[in-house]
Order: sequence, then C-alpha cells, then structure tokens
Amino acid sequence: MDERTLISTFFDRQRDRRPDRQAGVILGIGDDAAVLRPEPGFDLVLATDSIAEGTHFPPGIPAAAVGHRCLAVNLSDLAAMAAEPAWFSLALSLPEADPDWISKFSRGLFALADRFGVALVGGDTVRGPLGATVTILGRVRPDRAVKRSGARPGDGIWVTGHPGDAVAGRLLLPEVAPGAEVIALRQRFLYPEPRVHEGIALAGLASAMLDVSDGLDDDLRKLLVASGVGAELDAGELPLSDELRSVRGGEAVECALTGGDDYELCFTVAASDEARLRDVSAHWKVAVTRIGTIVAGSEVRWRLHGQPLTIPDSTFRHF
Ligand code: ADP
Ligand code: MG
Repeated sequence: MDERTLISTFFDRQRDRRPDRQAGVILGIGDDAAVLRPEPGFDLVLATDSIAEGTHFPPGIPAAAVGHRCLAVNLSDLAAMAAEPAWFSLALSLPEADPDWISKFSRGLFALADRFGVALVGGDTVRGPLGATVTILGRVRPDRAVKRSGARPGDGIWVTGHPGDAVAGRLLLPEVAPGAEVIALRQRFLYPEPRVHEGIALAGLASAMLDVSDGLDDDLRKLLVASGVGAELDAGELPLSDELRSVRGGEAVECALTGGDDYELCFTVAASDEARLRDVSAHWKVAVTRIGTIVAGSEVRWRLHGQPLTIPDSTFRHF
C-alpha cells in the first residue's frame, strides 16, 4: 500500500463533508499545509505530545488503543488549560503498512475525535519504529486559560477520577485469565478518558491546573513549583477505586501517587469558590475529590492515618 492510498483510505474523511467534523477548516488534508480559521475573540491553544512503542505503551496492545491514546493524551493537555479542542495533526511512524492494523488504529482515533468534535487536518506518514505525534489546537476566551502558576495558600487541591487504576491496568496486561476487575483496570490504561468537558467547566473556577500523566505526586509538585507554594495532603482522602483496592491491596496508595498514565485533572480552587465547584461538578460523570490544601512555603507533606508518608521517587524519566 503506497503512502497516498494509505492517507486517503484511513485518514482523509473530507469526503464525508460533515460540517460538524470540519468546523473552521478552510483547507484540510491533501495540500502542503492546512488552512484554519480561528473564531474571532478567542485565543488559540496548542499542544504536542508523542507516544512511542516501548516507552509510552507496551508492544502488542490493540491498534485501536494506540489510535485512541495518541489523541487522548493531547486532548488531556488542552483540557488542563480549560481549552476547547478543535483541530489536530498526526505524524505517524509505522514499521510497515499493514492495512488491518492501520484501519483499527484509525477507528480508535476517530471514535475519540468524533466524541469531542475535533478534526484531523493534516500530518505526516513515515516508516520507522511504531509511534505517533499529535499536535492539537483549541480555543479559549482571552485570559481564561488555567495555568499551573495560579495556586495560592488556602486553596483546596482536587483531583478527578481514580488515580492509580491506569498503572494497575498496565501491570495486569499480561494476565492470561483476567476477571472483571482486571479487565476494568486494563481498560483504564488502554483507553484513558480525557477530561475535556470538566477542564472547560473549570475555566474561571480553578486557580491552577494540570493533567496527571507522570503520577499524581510528581505532577502536583510541578504545579506547586510553578505557583511557588507548598501543600498538605491526606493520602487517606485519595479516591482509590474498589478495583484498585481489591487488586493491589496495600500498594493501592502508592499506585495512585506514583503510577502515572492516569490523564486525570489535578487542580486548585479557592475556598470561597468551593460551593461553586460543587455545583458545577454535581452532574459530572467523573468523581472529583478534595485531597489537600495549598500552604505557604515549598514543602509537600503527605500524611496517611495521621502519620507522615514518604513517597518513593519512581517517576519515569526519558533522559
Ligand atoms: P508533503 O510531502 O507536502 O509534506 P505528504 O505527501 O506528506 O505531503 O502529505 C500529503 C497530505 O496528507 C498533506 O496534507 C498531509 O498533511 C496529509 N497527511 C500525511 N500523513 C497524514 C496522516 N497520518 N494523517 C493525516 N494527514 C496526513
Ligand atoms: Mg509530508
């Protein structure tokens, strides 16, 4: 299969002519570059994230999960800015042009793209080790992007979903006779759900925000450093899922704090805005949990059952 056929078969959907899929796209796939028309009165928000086999996902996971993942991690970055995603490009590196694999990849990719109304407007396709780089563009009202640097002493620290599930799911991928709990955890790793609507709803409400990709403790520290503050947190308040508790037992807390791959949102909210947060999040499908408080200084103090808790530094680093 040659490159042009591959692109037109699996990635170019302009013939669909579905206006909801092509909003703001003046020129999409097929020319040297895409032409996009941002809405007046909005700021553009851009993020790029790559995933590589062996680094971000183990070999042999379903092609649909790879397609889902390369977009999900980028949607998650935009969500963490409280931005609404609109367009993305895809640079794909494939060891071979296997139509069956690419077809499943593209179905996983577009299933997620369609749920959030984002259009694929260009990319590149090369032979190489399996991996994908997505660049995503979205919009936010001027000065409404939520940065990492806005947390202030007294703000509550919140997290969506159930951190720790994804790492447990990844560790359980080789399990040969998985039960229902193992299957549920694996899904959490294979198909992370970007918190797009939740992130957008937090504009003007969260004082600081980021998404959790490297592990809750490690990512939270990035937010604290950017804001120039410390934190006091209670690991007993962590929203551990029943599946995680049952499968990892005493290690569930460590999974939640250092696991990574969660793609949940971690954010801070001023005490005076807490009631508003509860209102806004009342109809969310995802749990939102207060796990601590921002304090002056730079120290991060986790406690569990009243005792100080030291977190092992197990963060993955590329270099
Ligand atoms: P050029 O050589 O000018 O870069 P290409 O032949 O690489 O053009 O790509 C042709 C068109 O297909 C371009 O519009 C490009 O953005 C698009 N494209 C290439 N690969 C992909 C892909 N994996 N997904 C979406 N669009 C792609
Ligand atoms: Mg090219």
